[in-house]
This record gives sequence, structure tokens and C-alpha cells, in this order.
Amino acid sequence: MGESDNLSSVKHIIVILSGKGGVGKSTVATQLALALRNEGNKVGLLDVDICGPSIPKMLNLQDKEVFQCSDGWVPVFVDKEQTLGVMSIGFLLHSSSDAIVWRGPKKNAMIKQFLRDVYWRQLDYLIIDTPPGTSDEHLSVVENIRQYNPDGAVLVTTPQAVSTGDVRREATFCKKTGIPVIGLVENMSGFVCPHCSECSNVFSKGGGEALAAQLDVPFLGCIPLDPQLTQSLEDGKNFLDLFPESATRTAVQKVTTAI
Ligand code: ADP
Repeated sequence: MGESDNLSSVKHIIVILSGKGGVGKSTVATQLALALRNEGNKVGLLDVDICGPSIPKMLNLQDKEVFQCSDGWVPVFVDKEQTLGVMSIGFLLHSSSDAIVWRGPKKNAMIKQFLRDVYWRQLDYLIIDTPPGTSDEHLSVVENIRQYNPDGAVLVTTPQAVSTGDVRREATFCKKTGIPVIGLVENMSGFVCPHCSECSNVFSKGGGEALAAQLDVPFLGCIPLDPQLTQSLEDGKNFLDLFPESATRTAVQKVTTAI
């Protein structure tokens, strides 16, 4: 395969970042991808979380394999209309419990290949889910997308994490590497009761918004902690289609309008 230029036909490139693991970065990435697809866009979702690829399971694609064609790797599509394509290291592992123990250079080479050699065809949005923190892998992502003028990064945090320096470090990383910050999303903010669907604020409200103001980045909204979303992700089911009336779906859609 020669030098590929598969990202040149992608209109919008968005990187999802979080300071810590477990704050819902992959959840936000998958729900944004599905919501953008539901709005009629062609969407690609690239999982470069080399050590913990969770996206195939969340979308019920864990048994799928990727194939190569003369233009590169063909992503796995969620639907037969091919409106949402996914690429993840998870597809290249023999078993979902296989761990990848690679040193930095090998990881970076893999990320480079993921960013160059996946044959997305025409895409309105490419959402890139990254590992937690700001590591070498993030630099590899940035170096390989910079020439395509990415729209920027969406920072994900939780109400518990807003007082820590993690999100601040993400914002600094973006500044140093010249990636615009699209905004901050507060995930798991408030708890949606599975019985009455009412949302209560377990932690104090407004932390994410205040942090966004401090960092001088736009606040994109709050996504509540919703047990039905957890279950849908566990079962690989499409939450947004299953619960069209939910407050969580409204919250996710609100974020897509801001990006
Ligand atoms: P990260 O990518 O930051 O490590 P994940 O997206 O894998 O985090 O989320 C961690 C866990 O929390 C997953 O089991 C996921 O299903 C759950 N989760 C994340 N966000 C929500 C939410 N808003 N409502 C319910 N469960 C959530």
C-alpha cells in the first residue's frame, strides 16, 4: 500500500479527550457518533485506545473483523446502509480479553496506520476516541491529523473530577499542540431514576460549567448518569433509538448541536 490520504475526504475531525479513565469518554464518543448519524451524517468512529478498546463491545461489534482493500482497511459498519463505520484495535485482537502490551513506538506506528490507512470514503464526521490522559499516543494523533485542519477536541469530565487538574492538563495539551478546544462536556452529572426517570444531582451542580468558564472554553452540556444507558452499552444496544424520549438522549443531542 502506498502513501494514503484517506482523511482528506473527511469534513470534520473531532478528538475526544479525558484526563482520567472511566469518566465516560468512549460512551460520549459512541453516543455522539450515533446522534450525528441519526441527524443524517456519514460518521466514522476511530478507537485509538490501544490498551482498552471498548467501542466494539458498546456497539455490539466485538466478533467482527476488518479486511484490507487496495485503498486501505475497510471499517466495520454498524448498519447495512454504511452510515456509521468503526475502526478499533479491538477488531485485530483474537480475543476481547487479549491485552496489548506494546511499547510506545509500536503503539505510535499503529495509531499512524489507523489515521492514514482506513478507507473511510466520504465522511461528514470522524470522531476519534483516545486513551485517557495526555500521552505519546495523543501526540501521535495530533501529528497525524494536523494537516487536515481538525475541528478540535471535546473534553469529557465528571462532576467528581472537575476540581482536579486533569481537565486543565487536557486544555493545556490542546493549547500547546495547536488543537482548538471545541468545548467541555460534563458526563454522569445527575442520576436518572430508573423508576420515575427523574434526574437528581448526586454531586453539586454546575461544576463543569464553572470549570469551562475558568478555562475559557465553551460548555457543551451535561449528560446524566443513566442506568438504562449503562445497560444498553453492556448489551451493545442502541440507547438513543431505544429511549427516544429520555432526558439523556436530549442531552446528547444538545451536545451534537454545539459541535
Ligand atoms: P472511559 O472511556 O472514560 O474509560 P467509558 O465510556 O468506558 O469510560 O465508561 C465507563 C463506564 O461507565 C462504562 O461501563 C459505561 O457504560 C458507564 N457510563 C459512562 N457514561 C455513562 C452515563 N452517562 N450513564 C450511564 N453509564 C455511563
